[in-house]
Amino acid sequence: MTDVIPEVVRFAAENTKEVGDVLGIGTDKRTRWARGIVERGPVDGTIFYAGEMYPVMGYSEGAFRMLKRVEGLMSINDLAKIGPIMRALGIYTVSINALWGSINRKYERALQDAVNVLKALGVSLGYLFEDEPPSGVALHTYGLLREFKEHADWVHRRLRGLGVKKIITLDPIVATAFRLYYPEFVRDWSIESHHFVEVVADRMAELGLRLNLGRKLRVTYHDPCYLARTLGVVDEVRFILSRVEGVELIEPARRGVLTGCSGDGGLELTQPPVARKVALDRVEELSKTGAELVLTSCPACMLMLRTGFESIGQSVDVWDLASLLAEAMNNVERGESISPSFRRYNVFPKSPHFRSLSLRDLSEVLKVETDRCKKCGFCNVECPTSKAMDRLESRSSRGRVTLINSLVSGDPVRPREVLDRLYTCVLCGRCSQECPAGLHVQELIVYGRAYSIYSGRIPEELLD
Ligand code: SF4
Ligand code: SF4
Repeated sequence: MTDVIPEVVRFAAENTKEVGDVLGIGTDKRTRWARGIVERGPVDGTIFYAGEMYPVMGYSEGAFRMLKRVEGLMSINDLAKIGPIMRALGIYTVSINALWGSINRKYERALQDAVNVLKALGVSLGYLFEDEPPSGVALHTYGLLREFKEHADWVHRRLRGLGVKKIITLDPIVATAFRLYYPEFVRDWSIESHHFVEVVADRMAELGLRLNLGRKLRVTYHDPCYLARTLGVVDEVRFILSRVEGVELIEPARRGVLTGCSGDGGLELTQPPVARKVALDRVEELSKTGAELVLTSCPACMLMLRTGFESIGQSVDVWDLASLLAEAMNNVERGESISPSFRRYNVFPKSPHFRSLSLRDLSEVLKVETDRCKKCGFCNVECPTSKAMDRLESRSSRGRVTLINSLVSGDPVRPREVLDRLYTCVLCGRCSQECPAGLHVQELIVYGRAYSIYSGRIPEELLD
């Protein structure tokens, strides 16, 4: 792997490739949630795909808290350097347990709840346990696109070899990877993928189901960027909640495809203080709804919102939607089939076409695309990281597009700035919705990261 990436990104990427998750927790702990819950699959060609985030997010929550405690004493890159040493000494997970406090099992429970809900709805599926290949989406997020392509080819061969034809997942980032990135990177990708919410909404409509929570509860829903904006899944959530007796949904100011970011998108690992600021903004907005419980459908959003509410001293809990449904499934009433129309929102401009991942092709396409920027700054207005960083132009959407243009034009750029601008983006996509020139800004940022890595424009001495 190339030398010119931040240590923390290298740590996450190597863990993903070698152990299967960004923290390097390992298969045994990643699969324990499923024991006694789901049979070894596929069943009828279908699997429940847990992915590499939900099963280890309880550990990530501990790590995120620990990072806050050591801030100012150690950099995240210092910590990333210690990880491989601890693993070589065989004390890695023991140390994590000891240092990061108790492991929150809520994320693993969400997976169990999701499988139980799907089974109750009559969906046939199995789980691959230790045979489940990691999606490798972190490689894509951090711009390691050549490594991602190689990994994705291997995943495809492995899934096909195991007879998998259809994937159902609770993780919207993984659902995005399988629906959008894999077809782009893997020739003849042929595996269907669905998010849990889509499957549940369809089954509930088909069976005419009404659920009953057995108590009154005011909830709000945080739309994850990847589910609402990238996959366009919005109406299904509202439909599902409208069919749960006892639940009152109070919508936050920003919702649906205009949702506000919770601060994840890889930033919680590379720039935790910025991630916390973004989360705070969203938490304050959700808090204004007066809801007793916040629901969402993404493990990283759950982490950011849970820790965000704690930081403002509020005891509002954050659940995965699957966990609420599992509770309401105890009381089910079946009726006539209904056919609601779920819109499939498509809010992004067309993706640029990169012919290959050669430096020449990357720079040519990035140059053509970023030359189209009119410098209007409309993209900056709702950029959550720009807002969290005092509206500095250099850390705004437009600033990032300008930087990529300079980078591929061969202009002198300060390497520290390349890192700072490109790796403080959460890839939420809010900018692309506003761009009058039709730039797919967050995709340009991912490919800009790839260009900066493979071109070696970031000297290693700046990465400490
Ligand atoms: S640049 Fe775009 S994708 Fe990145 S944080 Fe800002 S609005 Fe989100
Ligand atoms: S909105 Fe589009 S055209 Fe305007 S500054 Fe941003 S990227 Fe450039």
